[in-house]
Amino acid sequence: MLITKLKSREAIESLLGGTCFILNCHGCKELSFPVAEAEALEAELAAAGKVTGILTTDYVCNPENLQLRLEAHKNEIEEADAVLVLSCGVGVQTVAECFPEKKVLAGCDTYRLPGTQGVTPLEVDCGQCGECYLNLTGGICPITACSKSLLNGQCGGAKNGKCEVDPEMDCGWERIYRRLEALGRLDLLKVPTQLRNYSTDDEVYKQNG
Ligand code: SF4
Ligand code: SF4
Repeated sequence: MLITKLKSREAIESLLGGTCFILNCHGCKELSFPVAEAEALEAELAAAGKVTGILTTDYVCNPENLQLRLEAHKNEIEEADAVLVLSCGVGVQTVAECFPEKKVLAGCDTYRLPGTQGVTPLEVDCGQCGECYLNLTGGICPITACSKSLLNGQCGGAKNGKCEVDPEMDCGWERIYRRLEALGRLDLLKVPTQLRNYSTDDEVYKQNG
């Protein structure tokens, strides 16, 4: 079981400055994913001339498979201002790693991954925190890439790019900074920490659990 919800239409529209390529993941078998809402969103964006292409596939969390499947859509992706990913947080991060210099947007929030989680080799992880933060951090999860799950920037303890808690690991916030710098989006670091919804959405869980 994997429980994701589409972000609100207003939130998605405010993220999209221009055109987008939409990447849909229908991978995990017992998926709780708003298929009809996603299709309505896609149709609406396409009718407004904002979509350069759509790929509906499975297991975008597998980077090798993903690269192969994206090959046929190279031109549509190049043409788009952003890649809008409708998947769990693992999928969005995998896509962001494929396109280090492209705006990659999370169109969903991830609530729970209580069952089999696709075929991800777990190069990246999602802490299922509810309201996904990836649109403010360049597609790198501050919950799982930072040892302290900090949401408002670096703790100040990193040495030579390594985390003070785990010197084997790169500091997640240094990675976020570098990624935003490459994207020309350091302005996102000035966005004040938002009040967020940390609900795990028990209603959705009960309906599907
Ligand atoms: S911010 Fe991280 S933990 Fe939260 S939903 Fe997004 S990827 Fe998952
Ligand atoms: S050094 Fe970096 S990754 Fe480690 S806890 Fe501090 S901010 Fe997080």
